[in-house]
Amino acid sequence: MKLLAAAVATLIALGPGSAGADAGSIGVGAAPGAEGAGDPYFPQQGNGGYDATHYDLALGYEPGSNQLSGVATITARATQELSRFDLDLVDTLAVRSVVVNGAAASFRRSGPELVVTPPGRLASGRPFSVVVRYDGKPTYLVDPDGSHDGWIRTDDGVFNANEPQGAMTWYPGNHHMTDKATYRFTVTVPSTRVAVANGDLASKTSQGGRTTYVWDEREPMASYLSTVTIGKFQLSDTKIGNFRVITAVDPRNAAKAGDFAKRHKPILDYFGSLFGPYPFSSTGGIIDRASDVGYSLETQTRPIYPQVPSEPLLSHELAHQWFGDAVTPTRWKDIWLNEGFATYAEWLWQDKLGTKKLQDSFDEAYSRAPEDEFWQTPAADPGGAAGLFGDPVYSRGAMTLHVLRGAVGDRAFFTILRTWVNDHKYGNADTAAFIALAQRVSGRDLGTLFDQWLFQRGKPTL
Ligand SMILES: [Zn+2]
Repeated sequence: MKLLAAAVATLIALGPGSAGADAGSIGVGAAPGAEGAGDPYFPQQGNGGYDATHYDLALGYEPGSNQLSGVATITARATQELSRFDLDLVDTLAVRSVVVNGAAASFRRSGPELVVTPPGRLASGRPFSVVVRYDGKPTYLVDPDGSHDGWIRTDDGVFNANEPQGAMTWYPGNHHMTDKATYRFTVTVPSTRVAVANGDLASKTSQGGRTTYVWDEREPMASYLSTVTIGKFQLSDTKIGNFRVITAVDPRNAAKAGDFAKRHKPILDYFGSLFGPYPFSSTGGIIDRASDVGYSLETQTRPIYPQVPSEPLLSHELAHQWFGDAVTPTRWKDIWLNEGFATYAEWLWQDKLGTKKLQDSFDEAYSRAPEDEFWQTPAADPGGAAGLFGDPVYSRGAMTLHVLRGAVGDRAFFTILRTWVNDHKYGNADTAAFIALAQRVSGRDLGTLFDQWLFQRGKPTL
């Protein structure tokens, strides 16, 4: 969830892109990889010509000075014959060397693009490795909606949330959601601090006042869902039922957090019964102390919260593990597939708990007057990057699902949701695919329903 009180459009100034064709004479068919993945909301995000399959990030960090040093080893596969390719990395971090397939590569910077020219062409369909050594003092980006994302310093470390574009503030990569990869994070920090990342804690070793944490994320992950959050934390790694629950709680929030780990199982059990099995090898969450951040994020396996989450918020971020993390949109404009679904799941959990009836949640959202500005934004096309996390994406998205459920009935509705996860988990899918699935499962023409609720301006009639 990224819910913002005020949306101020402050587009970050991205430098000019790398210029078009250059020395591509290495191989007959070799050409530069594209500088972006083609997403209209963030044109330079991601890169073309290759598919990253694994990130091995070895990081050292000093919270006092904000000094980060990194060695990023990226395993990828060329999807075209490449004369050169780009990685996304902000130019405030210094790149010391780039090695491709064991040989030194030349590189240059062009805004947030790190342009790499390997000594020889990279053959289409073949795997290759890139090792980038870099360092510097990372900072956050200001997103088009005014929120901060990326490397956000706290008084004891870093609150690291990367939706939609913060990953490039701390490691080089192919940072569009369509290029998922597995990860290993090896993070060394002063022993007074804890480094928390996605997936499973593989090891923790201390030497000379410094501690190294190794985390493995074995399921494919979009980079906006990655995190390396650092601070003074109470770390807990426990088994509850079938779930490995790893939590990190800022000690100043410990009393209010209570038994945070224990809160996960009932929600995951319920969602598992509705959406299909929990899709990852571990779960949990990070409760930091960063009230100025203003949002929580569904970082894969381990959502991050700037304070102790309420029950609806906790359920929202856990629902994202199915909707957003396991199944990820193909374009940012389809973000309702994350936020509308997580909001609807939040309504379902409150209904299950008996704290608020599902129909009351719908009625409350629908009761907005027809002239309310809210109805002027279609849920499946919020108009641009500044509207990504606006209320229509969340509430109108959730209402769409409730109306769909009413139209097709409970049995078909939950079959649609389970099939959606099962068919696309660890991958990406778009709104058109969801509509097609809903029509196939229900045997109904739902074109008018979806058009009215997702694509048209104005208050839909019931
Ligand atoms: Zn959300």
